[in-house]
Amino acid sequence: MLRAGMIRQIAAGIYNWLPFGLSALSQVETIIRQEMSNINASELLVPCIQPVSLWKDSGRFGASNDLNNEMLRMKDRAGQEMIFTPTAEEAIVDVIASGTQSYKSFPLSIYQISWKFRDEIRPRYGVMRSREFLMKDAYSFHMNRECALRTYEDVLRAYLRIYHRLGLVAVPVAASTGAIGGDYSHEFHILADTGESTIYYETSLEEKLKNNEITLSSLQDIYAVEEEKYNPELCKALEIVSRKGIEVGHIFYLGNKYSKAMNMKIQDRDGSLKHPEMGCYGIGVSRLVGALIEANHDEKGIIWPDAVAPFKFIILNLKINDAKCDELSKQLCLILDKRGVDYLYDDLEYGPGVKFSRADLLGIPTQLIIGLKNAREDKIEVKDRKSGKVTILDINQFGNYLNSL
Ligand code: ATP
Ligand code: MG
Repeated sequence: MLRAGMIRQIAAGIYNWLPFGLSALSQVETIIRQEMSNINASELLVPCIQPVSLWKDSGRFGASNDLNNEMLRMKDRAGQEMIFTPTAEEAIVDVIASGTQSYKSFPLSIYQISWKFRDEIRPRYGVMRSREFLMKDAYSFHMNRECALRTYEDVLRAYLRIYHRLGLVAVPVAASTGAIGGDYSHEFHILADTGESTIYYETSLEEKLKNNEITLSSLQDIYAVEEEKYNPELCKALEIVSRKGIEVGHIFYLGNKYSKAMNMKIQDRDGSLKHPEMGCYGIGVSRLVGALIEANHDEKGIIWPDAVAPFKFIILNLKINDAKCDELSKQLCLILDKRGVDYLYDDLEYGPGVKFSRADLLGIPTQLIIGLKNAREDKIEVKDRKSGKVTILDINQFGNYLNSL
């Protein structure tokens, strides 16, 4: 990501996102937004700087856990203690509680995509474990457990669709609930030898994933856990594999842990006051960009899957200032502009070698190469980044070629 000019570090675990990196990030965000909207979650945004008082109400401030040690604290000019949000259960309960009184407002699902800060002891692997990172965090509120579990399952299925659309296979495993708390939870892991986590699961899980047969109950029938939950005794009779994984998502059924701690009360159908049931659901958006590259690269660089490629085409003009090469390049730009297709035009004055290796590094799926010799005959070279396959096209055929994609 550094070599491709996607990010630059400004301090340990804190990165600038440069234009190419930011485009990749927003492709991932778009897919997440669509799938969250499909399960009727609405997007909102709570502040990144929050008063500590909220976190004292829930009891998470000052508790002895990772999250507390990772909180970045500060004071405003009046001496009020503030934090930069590492997650947002408190702020969300606060804002939802202030606008709802009756069961008629529920169930209710909301999410945000926002920068979180966790003062990790050892930030590492670039955006995989950074201190500032982009997270999609969703929260749901319900009047009873059954309803909460239905949404939990909806989110589980939505997450699998998100990873699938990103071209990734993410394995869901039962997880311990850590500093977020709650009754139970699942993590989603992309298999990769460089992953920081170890997961254990029955081999039949892979088949179920492939056939899109994952439901909450099918997951409960199968042994699939992250390392903190792993119990070798329980697995003796089972066919278990252990794999390295990158955790790209984590969902929690919270019960009324937060609504109770923060005294959120809602009037139910029978008139009684209840602390709503909740779930919370996270996806590491910036970590996913790293995980995508981890899963899609070769020795030359990135190979973006079509669904998330920051651009679909890169035009390589190998001879800038040659009238014919410039003319053909402009023609391609015009055709792509007309169709509203995203592309990058390399019109820099570097030699072909630099242009080729840079294009390979950036990993844009299709390279449109305009060199002196072909240009004289009104021809362009179309090269597939993944397979390396090259096709020579007459410029007049380019429109048809686009139609055939
Ligand atoms: P980890 O075990 O990796 O520290 P976590 O359990 O602390 O993760 P959650 O609180 O569940 O993470 O956050 C939701 C998601 O945010 C995670 O699944 C992960 O993808 C992402 N995430 C968490 N911490 C980081 C980080 N330091 N850098 C990038 N992404 C992160
Ligand atoms: Mg953590």
